[in-house]
Amino acid sequence: MSTPPAHHPALSTADPELAALVVAEEQLQSRTLRLIPSENYVSHAVLEASGTVLQNKYSEGYPGRRYYEGQQNIDQVETLAVERAKSLFGVDHANVQPYSGSPANLAVYLAFAEPGDTVMGMALPMGGHLTHGWGVSATGKWFRGVQYGVRQDTGLIDFDEVRELALKERPKVIFCGGTALPRTIDFAAFAEIARECGAVLVADVAHIAGLIAGGAHPSPVPHADVISTTTHKTLRGPRGAMLMCREEHAKALDKAVFPGLQGGPHNQTTAAIAVALHEAAQPSFRDYAHSVVANAKALADALLARGFDLVSGGTDNHLILMDLTPKDVPGKVAAKALDRAGIVVNYNTVPFDPRKPFDPSGIRIGTPSLTSRGLTTAHMETVAEWIDRGVTAARTGDEEALAGIRAEVADLMSAFPAPGLPA
Ligand SMILES: *Cc1c(COP(=O)(O)O)cnc(C)c1O
Repeated sequence: MSTPPAHHPALSTADPELAALVVAEEQLQSRTLRLIPSENYVSHAVLEASGTVLQNKYSEGYPGRRYYEGQQNIDQVETLAVERAKSLFGVDHANVQPYSGSPANLAVYLAFAEPGDTVMGMALPMGGHLTHGWGVSATGKWFRGVQYGVRQDTGLIDFDEVRELALKERPKVIFCGGTALPRTIDFAAFAEIARECGAVLVADVAHIAGLIAGGAHPSPVPHADVISTTTHKTLRGPRGAMLMCREEHAKALDKAVFPGLQGGPHNQTTAAIAVALHEAAQPSFRDYAHSVVANAKALADALLARGFDLVSGGTDNHLILMDLTPKDVPGKVAAKALDRAGIVVNYNTVPFDPRKPFDPSGIRIGTPSLTSRGLTTAHMETVAEWIDRGVTAARTGDEEALAGIRAEVADLMSAFPAPGLPA
């Protein structure tokens, strides 16, 4: 066994078995190229805030209106997070208590719909999220989910289709946004349709919140009635979520989160959200957000030059969705091979995928994590080359080639220490 790591002294003493797993994960996150577009590296400050004794406190309710005493500090922590969210995104109201993105979306349904009501969102295999009314999700079981997609020829949302469906089905709530959308979301176009059919428009910006905060993607303000976001993706905060809205919806949303859906908020997470929002308000975060997009565009160009088939032909944001059918490798086979090559991606359906969701045709990659480590557009040709070689090795079963890539990846990544990780 290796000697106990100095950076987790208490953990190493109390529970060496668990400490060893944490250290192993640190090494994995440090030595691999992480391309999963919903992941990132939080700063040391965010990590510290989320590991504080704020953990020990119950605080059901909201600042100044709690059901437990002893909130002298917690009220200020939550107020700080709320004020920073309002200022960063330019909204009237923010709720920072949702435990994660899925419960945040459930709170939205609770606020604006009754069980059995019609709700509308993008279909999961088209790039939407489970919680946008997809059948296996509670949101598709308790509500009547109707789903829109993208056009087969362009890979883009067809707003005529969305409008037609919305006017026919009259949903109470319309979700826009998703998990595998490589293009800019036209919030104004969705808002016009929501207005026409009297629906509440929810912009679920979980993936792109950091790009919006950094000015690298248009804001859903003032178009959306409600903005839902996770805090742990491009926003670079702890695992958590926020709901934001105009004043008119504030009460309904707050009531839905607590007492409608949740009990005590996770105050250590609230604190870490406050820190992340502070970091996202710095000029350097604007540079970060624009670099994420520049890296994604450079990577997309390099992949296109190598004959990869990108859904919608490229990207406007942090994310690239590739259909590997022309490369004659299923997405899952490629994803698992790339993992062995030290390149961490996820297999993903592509629109109109003839294969099953658990064994789809594509992989999904993104640049938030590598940009957090300081990689630039100058590195994207190398990244594309690794992916290309990895996919080829996946097809031919060349494990030696995968091991070779893994060593090259570890070598480059060692020059770009990740935020929050021991050097
Ligand atoms: C990630 C994501 C969610 C869910 O977030 P969890 O924290 O995983 O529950 C919801 N909506 C969208 C669009 C997402 O990308």
